[in-house]
Amino acid sequence: MGKTELINSLRKHGFPENILGAFAKVQREDFVPERFRSMAYEDIALPLGSEQTISQPYTIAFMLSLLKLKDRQNVLEIGSGSGYVLALISEIVKNGEIYGVERIRELAEKSERILKRRGYSDVTIFHGDGSKGLKEKAPFDRILVSASAKEIPSELVNQLKIGGILVAPVRDSIFQIKKREDGEDAEEFQGFVFVPLIEE
Ligand code: SAH
Repeated sequence: MGKTELINSLRKHGFPENILGAFAKVQREDFVPERFRSMAYEDIALPLGSEQTISQPYTIAFMLSLLKLKDRQNVLEIGSGSGYVLALISEIVKNGEIYGVERIRELAEKSERILKRRGYSDVTIFHGDGSKGLKEKAPFDRILVSASAKEIPSELVNQLKIGGILVAPVRDSIFQIKKREDGEDAEEFQGFVFVPLIEE
């Protein structure tokens, strides 16, 4: 599959144009190890080094669509790995502030280099444990968790603005949490597979 076919296949699933446009702009091959470059546009998860994987494009598109991203938002991704999803978010959110937290130093450093080289100057990566969020930049309009926790991390909900949205895998489901003045609305989407969120 090439990039055009991948985007056509995502379009058939009904994803909105701003998400398809981001997949068209970002070069997935920049974010995967050299020996997997020929597979960069297959709709499958790929190794990104350090025994981690970049999710399948379909799953990424699904999570991004649940986030309902808009311009000028500040967005946090926990488990930013290769930086691929941060690049997609940066293409969707204009004039925003985008933060990634990654616990494996090698990935944090490598992704930072690639994103800078590709001109994603609105993205900042922090090396460390993101399971408690990123206090110094909170509150956020949107939080995406890219590794699967055992339960919905309540500290992350605390770091959302009112009206903010958290998208997080819990075991093999994706949860979309919308924060209201007086609580949260949660919706569950089943049937996904993620690497675990390591809580320290
Ligand atoms: N979204 C990434 C892929 C995510 S794979 C991409 O586009 O490439 C999940 C990542 O979560 C892995 O890189 C893993 O190291 C990281 N991770 C797991 N637990 C974490 C934690 N507590 N804090 C920060 N990162 C974590």
